[in-house]
Amino acid sequence: MMKLTLAIQKSGRLHEDSMRLLKECGIDMSNGVNKLKADASNFPLELYFLRDDDIPQYVEDNVADIGFVGENVVREKKKEVISCEPLGFGKCRLSIAVKKGDAYNGVEDLKGKKIATSYPVILGDFLQEQGVQAEIHPISGSVEIAPGIGLADAICDLVSSGSTLFMNGLREATPILQSQAVLIKNTQLPPEKEAILEKLLFRIRSVKKARNHKYILLNAPNEKLSSIISLLPGMKSPTVLPLAEPGWSSVHSVLNENDFWNIIEQLRDAGAQGILVVPIEKMIL
Ligand code: ATP
Ligand code: ZN
Repeated sequence: MMKLTLAIQKSGRLHEDSMRLLKECGIDMSNGVNKLKADASNFPLELYFLRDDDIPQYVEDNVADIGFVGENVVREKKKEVISCEPLGFGKCRLSIAVKKGDAYNGVEDLKGKKIATSYPVILGDFLQEQGVQAEIHPISGSVEIAPGIGLADAICDLVSSGSTLFMNGLREATPILQSQAVLIKNTQLPPEKEAILEKLLFRIRSVKKARNHKYILLNAPNEKLSSIISLLPGMKSPTVLPLAEPGWSSVHSVLNENDFWNIIEQLRDAGAQGILVVPIEKMIL
């Protein structure tokens, strides 16, 4: 039977989340696991474990059909692959950082400066767009120490919390790219493989949706029901069930994580009691 091959990071920041996403999609990867490969026992999928930097190339060359990799790497490598779906993990940004004490009023201040980075392509495109001439100094790792040892005036590197920058006497100056892990695919997948990918994407989307939503149950006196229901979005409309105690009902609904706390407070003020919030495993719409 035909299988889809998926390249993921062998070890590093994206590995665990990639494996967890597959697991949440109900795909069991415990078959024939070794350093290079693993086989799904219940889905036509084979995994390759690779360095993240190599994944776009392998997908372009059809060594793997699809890959999970950071958007930052996809943009830097400029390979011919199609980005199909953001995956919701590996979130970070690529930013220009300068020495803490240096004055910086905007990108034009980088004119004539030397900037160290592992992302010369993305940085080069950005500077060109901004019309700023600066010297790009490509280095492959430990970019954040470059200004301290006199190798560069500024850097362009991935940031999540900013604590690494701080420890190296730097401050974030201008973010140039927001990134997260994405699913990429080869541009010429045969229809059989496209069909498997469609199934995988359907599962991934259901898992992503569920992660952003919570199931909520609450009790309310009947006279307050209509004002409580008006606060709830629900997938269609909330479910309302009578409680054993006369004059009371139980209300069930689904809330989006974004407006979650806001709505909970309003529900309490409107007279809701015994509010329970439960995670949702999958959400099929
Ligand atoms: P490999 O050995 O596979 O080349 P690596 O050292 O290049 O690994 P990691 O540091 O594991 O890569 O990061 C992999 C990806 O994780 C990055 O390309 C980026 O998309 C994402 N990421 C998320 N947060 C951060 C962060 N704070 N710093 C660096 N990368 C991050
Ligand atoms: Zn890498």
